[in-house]
Amino acid sequence: MAKNRLTTEEFKNGILAGEKSVLSRAITLVESKSVVDRKQANELVNSILPFIGKSFRLGITGAPGVGKSTFIDGFGDFLLKKGKKVAVLAIDPSSKISGGSILGDKTRMEKLVGQPNVFIRPSPAGLELGGVAQSTLESILLCEAASYDFVVVETVGVGQSETAVKEMTDMLLFLTIAGAGDDLQGIKRGIMEMIDLVVINKSDQIEKEILGKVKSNFAQALHLFPPRAAKPNVDILSCSALNSTGFDEIWQFILDYQAKLSANGFFEENRKAQKISWMNRSLIHLVENHIQNNDNLKANVQKFETMVSDNQLSPLDAAFQIFQLLNLV
Ligand code: GDP
Repeated sequence: MAKNRLTTEEFKNGILAGEKSVLSRAITLVESKSVVDRKQANELVNSILPFIGKSFRLGITGAPGVGKSTFIDGFGDFLLKKGKKVAVLAIDPSSKISGGSILGDKTRMEKLVGQPNVFIRPSPAGLELGGVAQSTLESILLCEAASYDFVVVETVGVGQSETAVKEMTDMLLFLTIAGAGDDLQGIKRGIMEMIDLVVINKSDQIEKEILGKVKSNFAQALHLFPPRAAKPNVDILSCSALNSTGFDEIWQFILDYQAKLSANGFFEENRKAQKISWMNRSLIHLVENHIQNNDNLKANVQKFETMVSDNQLSPLDAAFQIFQLLNLV
């Protein structure tokens, strides 16, 4: 970013004018670990705050191979035809759209790539598997300021990424396929409480009877959860991402979901809670980084770790003493 550095004003104006190249550079800026970049990123994100909040943020999760890329391509195209502007972001490194595969392999998301009203951004580089990009929320905000109506955030069910995507989107769609009983695995791992909509993909390959059975399995699993007051109950739909069928029902669910959450105030309430949660997450992240980047502190923390594991000190007392070392009290 050293050469031809844009001023914050230039960044802002370019984003508000919907210039994709500027949006792309702005996302690189918020992903940067350099202190100078971070300072400008803070300035930039603060400056675009008055222009955010108008998009619908759709999180999509599901195991590799269930058809997430194909779904985002097909459903994204469906949204384009409804006159929407669509941004696609990935949240973790195992995502198919990371590692430049989207850009390198033109067959991936072929309906969306190159469309004027589409912005696609792979996962930030340098993330550990299951790592969560602190910067993704800021990338969402930048896309909103650039007037994308739909921001799709893709994640694979790895580590904390689903929780993170839940905490930065308005609705979480769980994409799955029928077969081998593994469609319920996700539920067992505690994902179910987070999901707003289940979509069984590849319906073109499933016989009607089997589809019905899979749906009722899901419905039974869902009955274990209490009914949701603020949100519509979780629905179980099916589609063929490949043939673009079943999208109307998914769209209708999203519309009803959006309408209910806007009417009862939960939409705004949820976004406010999300912002606070990200502030707190970032704070913890900063403290962790601060310790990692200071050899003296790091050595001290290691000593405390030994004392805690040997029962010489209680974990809470150790935390309190580390906290004192940070000169925060
Ligand atoms: P991802 O790993 O979840 O992103 O899955 P992909 O989108 O890469 O899809 C994995 C494979 O499933 C690809 O070969 C797709 O062509 C295929 N696929 C995706 N959706 C469908 C569908 O609706 N029907 C069928 N028959 N194949 C599909």
